[in-house]
Amino acid sequence: MRRGQRWPGIYCSQSTAGSVQSALGSAGISNVPFWIAEWGIGEAQAQSNVADGSGGGYPTIGWQYQNGTYVDYDVFSVPWLTTVSGPAQLGWNWCDKCQGMFYGWNASQGVCPDGGAHGGSKSYDYSMTYGTAPSGYQGSWQWCGKCQGLFYGPQQSSSVCPAGGRHDGSGSYSYAVAHGTIPSGDQARWNWCRKCHGMFYGPNDSNSRCPAGSTHNGTGSYDYGMTHR
Ligand SMILES: [Zn+2]
Ligand SMILES: [Zn+2]
Ligand SMILES: [Zn+2]
Repeated sequence: MRRGQRWPGIYCSQSTAGSVQSALGSAGISNVPFWIAEWGIGEAQAQSNVADGSGGGYPTIGWQYQNGTYVDYDVFSVPWLTTVSGPAQLGWNWCDKCQGMFYGWNASQGVCPDGGAHGGSKSYDYSMTYGTAPSGYQGSWQWCGKCQGLFYGPQQSSSVCPAGGRHDGSGSYSYAVAHGTIPSGDQARWNWCRKCHGMFYGPNDSNSRCPAGSTHNGTGSYDYGMTHR
């Protein structure tokens, strides 16, 4: 998701919202906000419709209550207006030795659980969202200043760092990672490792190396998506 972007939704008239939502439901899509057009109901009614979620079984984020000669009149949900995707940081790499995600633009390529430094020469250029986590993202992922790897910050005290001891996220931004509904164009199937609490590429788990020994273990992980170019 681009920096500064709001949660994308669907605009339609009140008379068609029901059929649009049944089509989404049949496709197994549940997490889409609606901005509904219903002219002539007045601003107060539109406010009340947004406040009480009158748009049906899907989140209601806006209501258009009048179309003027030159402008339309709408009300929008304040949380929807104020929640925007955070800035993104380039420079993240996949390591083809340990299968982990690490920050590749520092002079040090970190410490790889497979020995030596991480190897990012075959990697896409990944970018990580940081700051306030957008809707559908999990925040609190951190960069470890010892190994350069990405790990889940709330579990630092039980993490395992390939540079020895625990990962150290004290100098890190709070990164946010998409899960569940992965934005189109992102690479899915990144996993959290239950042993070291790092992020690694799940489909290659049998070739991975975990700092806690043997290979990473993504059992119990969300399916995470990573933005790349
Ligand atoms: Zn590595
Ligand atoms: Zn570390
Ligand atoms: Zn691991």
